[in-house]
Amino acid sequence: MAHKTRKIDIGGIKVGGGAPIVVQSMCATRTADVDATVSQAHQLAGAGAGIVRIAVDNEREVAALKEIRAQTEGIVLSVDLQENYKLADKVAPYVDKIRYNPGHLHHIEKSRTIEQKVRWLTEVARDNDLAIRIGVNCGSVAPAFLEKYPGDQLTALVESAVYHCSLMDDYGFDRFVVSLKDSDPVKVREANRRFSERRPDVPIHLGVTEAGLPPDGITKTRLAFEELLAQEIGDTLRVSLTLPNERKHEEVLVGHRIIEDVAAGRFISVPEFGKGLNIISCPSCSRVENEKFVELAQQVKELASYAASYRITIAVMGCRVNGPGETDDADLGLWCGPTTVNLKRKDHKLGNFKYDEVLARLRVELDRLVAERSEQTN
Ligand code: SF4
Repeated sequence: MAHKTRKIDIGGIKVGGGAPIVVQSMCATRTADVDATVSQAHQLAGAGAGIVRIAVDNEREVAALKEIRAQTEGIVLSVDLQENYKLADKVAPYVDKIRYNPGHLHHIEKSRTIEQKVRWLTEVARDNDLAIRIGVNCGSVAPAFLEKYPGDQLTALVESAVYHCSLMDDYGFDRFVVSLKDSDPVKVREANRRFSERRPDVPIHLGVTEAGLPPDGITKTRLAFEELLAQEIGDTLRVSLTLPNERKHEEVLVGHRIIEDVAAGRFISVPEFGKGLNIISCPSCSRVENEKFVELAQQVKELASYAASYRITIAVMGCRVNGPGETDDADLGLWCGPTTVNLKRKDHKLGNFKYDEVLARLRVELDRLVAERSEQTN
């Protein structure tokens, strides 16, 4: 059983230390589109999101965030810095929490060490009364940890998170949470259990990244969360589903439902889950490069339905930030560009295809895979 984590304050909301589990979500609108993002922040908060996250990648989006903050009074805002940690001090006046990804710190400002960057982030957070989320993802583990634990991505993920906690300790900053995400519910359970053993004091943000389209995305999320929550691991959570913007609040409703069901002892049982076709797709966010993404994910699911009994993974991602890395483990991967879709087979790039051409090429590749798998079983 997990120990009680430290209770921290995020914009007036308590997370950890036995406080009620906070359900959060993320805007999928373009951050520069202030009206759409304000509207979605209210949509998510209205459905019961205690924290609403927004992605910010550039100065234009910082300016939009200032306006979004002015129009979302009473909503706790978190900002996702992903590739551009340097914007932290610019966004700080307008949010309650910043999320950084340890796996993306090495990309920019190579003259500064990781430790210097993290120290600076804690200073920005302290000066602006903010919390921090250390958000590690299996698809973007810092290279230093992948090299240290070759062939063991899960250990690299956990150790990266533990190391960044130790940096927070060194810099005297304790107002932080940690997330360890993967698209595989089994890995999510294992990573969070291991982290919780190592750092029982640190509040945990649960998430299955790229869980995909409902209903399978909900099933995957339940398989990850139910067992952890029953072991009192998890202080806040986000359900990441591929949904059109008008249905984005369903993520929040599902999150609350899972918490209620676990509290009431209701668990799902899906013995066959994971034995056949697996489609993973991201929940989309401000970075999505073409609005056709959600429709594309749906079309891929329909096209691939004939291969339902084959153990094949297809990944569909919305952008180039996470697309290349998060599709690495899939048999077939697609990620969206502004006018074309990138397609690859394992780590072999097959090329860029127009949105109305990519499905035909995907079908050819899938047919080939199905034929290979059929031969192997004969
Ligand atoms: S893959 Fe890209 S578009 Fe999809 S959620 Fe991640 S950052 Fe956003």
